[in-house]
Amino acid sequence: MSHLALGAGGEFDAIRRLTALWGEQAQGIGDDAAVLTVPPGRSLVVSTDVSVEEVHFRRAWLTPEEIGWRATAAALSDLAAMGAEPLGVLWAGVIPDAWRDALDGLALGVGAATRHAGAAVVGGDLSRGVALSLGLTVLGAAARPLTRAGAKPGDVVWVTGRFGGPARALAAWEHGGRPTDDDRARFARPVPRIAQGLAAAAAGATAAIDVSDGLAQDAGHLAAASGVRIELRLDDLPLVPGGEPLAAAAGGEEYELVLTAPVSVDLAAALPPGVPVTRVGRVGMGHGVVTSLGDRVVEVVPGHDHFSRP
Ligand SMILES: [Mg+2]
Repeated sequence: MSHLALGAGGEFDAIRRLTALWGEQAQGIGDDAAVLTVPPGRSLVVSTDVSVEEVHFRRAWLTPEEIGWRATAAALSDLAAMGAEPLGVLWAGVIPDAWRDALDGLALGVGAATRHAGAAVVGGDLSRGVALSLGLTVLGAAARPLTRAGAKPGDVVWVTGRFGGPARALAAWEHGGRPTDDDRARFARPVPRIAQGLAAAAAGATAAIDVSDGLAQDAGHLAAASGVRIELRLDDLPLVPGGEPLAAAAGGEEYELVLTAPVSVDLAAALPPGVPVTRVGRVGMGHGVVTSLGDRVVEVVPGHDHFSRP
């Protein structure tokens, strides 16, 4: 379905209002389904992601617009990891009565993150319900989709961005404090690395994953899918100012990319400027992830400051 309504007996016309909020970013809303054209020679790449109040965020932490942005950006980040160009976004929302006044803000955030990624909101559905839930389905196209499975022994491991901000923001909130503006922004307004994923795929990257659960954990998913061992040098991990490498390698919600590429491919030169692209390790034979700091092998405790992701 591509309509937005509050279910049977909905009390207001959410279609018209949200379409107006999204402006030209809303396409095809009002028909029974959205129609998208996938450019010739490309594959359709699809992913969906759910954000639920009290599971993925708390109301006190974020504005409604930030909640909408973050949920949408998290979903779009999976397209970035696949080296896909976003085509459209669908929002399935469960809106409790207590959140009714926040609906415009949520919709603005969904629209803003979608626009930032160069895509359009093409449909969705809203229902009343008990807990606020935002289900974002993202549609993209890729000529050569990047997967987690292509890393080869001898490849170099790269990451985008600087690590440690979101985990520190969560830690501050969970201890009753307030994160710094920079840490808060890293949690509230992650930017999916769409251009970086596209450029990496074009440059010959062999595998990719986005960091939602934590660098070490997500590198482990890539290692398992590729049947290789990932060796990470945490000394080389780019950090937010004051960041601590073990915490940064464990913290989730980064929405940066982990990329592998042959030694001959310089991803730092191939990816667009503006976001750091850093060599942090190599791919070896074997399995799992080995993290080192100085000349010691260290253990990254996965998601130790992670907010109850199921
Ligand atoms: Mg992902």
